[in-house]
Amino acid sequence: MASCLIALGSNLGERVGNLQSAIGLLRNAPGVSVVRTSSFVETLPVGGPADQPRFFNAALVLETELPPAAVLPALLSVEQQLGRIRGERCGPRTIDLDLLLYDQQVVETPELTLPHPRMHLRRFVLAPAAEIAPDWRHPALGRSLAALLKALPPDDTDKTGLQVFTDPRAIQAKVLALRREGLLVGLVPTMGALHAGHLSLVQIARRRADRVAASIFVNPTQFGPREDFSRYPRSLDDDLAALSEEGCDLVFVPSAADMYPPGFSTYVEPPAVAAPLEGVCRPGHFRGVATIVLKLFHLLPADFACFGQKDYQQLQVIRRMTQDLALPIEIVAGPTIREPDGLAMSSRNRYLSPAERQRALSISRALAQAAESVAAGERDASRLSQRMRATLQAAGIDRIDYATIADAESLAELQSVDRPAVALIAAHVGTTRLIDNRLLSESHA
Ligand code: AMP
Repeated sequence: MASCLIALGSNLGERVGNLQSAIGLLRNAPGVSVVRTSSFVETLPVGGPADQPRFFNAALVLETELPPAAVLPALLSVEQQLGRIRGERCGPRTIDLDLLLYDQQVVETPELTLPHPRMHLRRFVLAPAAEIAPDWRHPALGRSLAALLKALPPDDTDKTGLQVFTDPRAIQAKVLALRREGLLVGLVPTMGALHAGHLSLVQIARRRADRVAASIFVNPTQFGPREDFSRYPRSLDDDLAALSEEGCDLVFVPSAADMYPPGFSTYVEPPAVAAPLEGVCRPGHFRGVATIVLKLFHLLPADFACFGQKDYQQLQVIRRMTQDLALPIEIVAGPTIREPDGLAMSSRNRYLSPAERQRALSISRALAQAAESVAAGERDASRLSQRMRATLQAAGIDRIDYATIADAESLAELQSVDRPAVALIAAHVGTTRLIDNRLLSESHA
């Protein structure tokens, strides 16, 4: 059995998706088994035409009984299955697989040169390779990959880049290493389909932290059986481009199988604040949220984590869980980011038809009216809720899960706005369920 080191790169189409597909195909290829994969690092292109897109690069270790000359066709076959378009040299490519090392063999044939002739000169190859095989020796140069990487002259090909992790233990090791270096790390958990609301949290994190880590995971356990888990929008490559643009450093994109491996059976019993409102309409939702957030806090042990006020009850559940379980992480809240016409940004807004989107505006309008009424002296919570309902109904929204005034911390329903309070709405617009809220406390004070 021999060990091979393979480099992967993609800068066309769904770049991370292409790398993941290539790894998947190699896992199923005869005669080879994938034993380790690196993170995916975004890098600036080296050589080739100007203005070509950034790459994502990775490395993996294979074990194989195939001879070196037979590994190459296996790699080419993966490239072909992924529809590689061969263009100019160093030009854009959907997927590129290179055999870097095959044990300590030195090969010099017209088809194959081992070790790969330029591997020790390129940071985008050496960095992921050294991540998974730091002690592997370069057979011609006699030095370890870690030493070769260290000896490379500094360049900026990976400075603007994002590092994408799919392996839970690898992201955990990375964040722990950053913390040990004394760097302040901020975390932004998301379910992807990112919009300006999510990115505002990345901006908040970036202002406070030395390194910003985001996670993208559509968490199955927080969706009910009749909810939109399978149709929840997924747009990984656009999300990664947006995170890169905002200066995010690390992204964790696990699979459901990695987060919930066979036999997984430990769940968080959420705090009392999870019981009303969403707790009534979406039984089990906050059990799934609390469980995944606690797990993310362990896998990305950051100094602080940012959550949006848009999901007000979720924020209170997480604050309370963090306090109750003495979690060593600070919870930072970000304000709700809205469209210019007031609609709270949400990944689910993309389900709305133009007519539905128009109707959905009544939600933020009803909340704004409630805040104005309180500012004008209204204290009767049932009158405020009735007015919110009337505004929604007048716009054609008749499936209202709740439109209510609650204590800003416990979320217990209020009779009178005599303490810090929040107005909350959950309503169905067509087949899309939207939530929004507005704090009444400032106007009350
Ligand atoms: P999600 O991807 O829906 O799970 O949201 C991830 C994080 O982004 C949560 O902390 C949300 O509260 C936050 N978020 C979602 N929408 C907005 C928004 N419009 N403004 C601010 N934060 C938001």
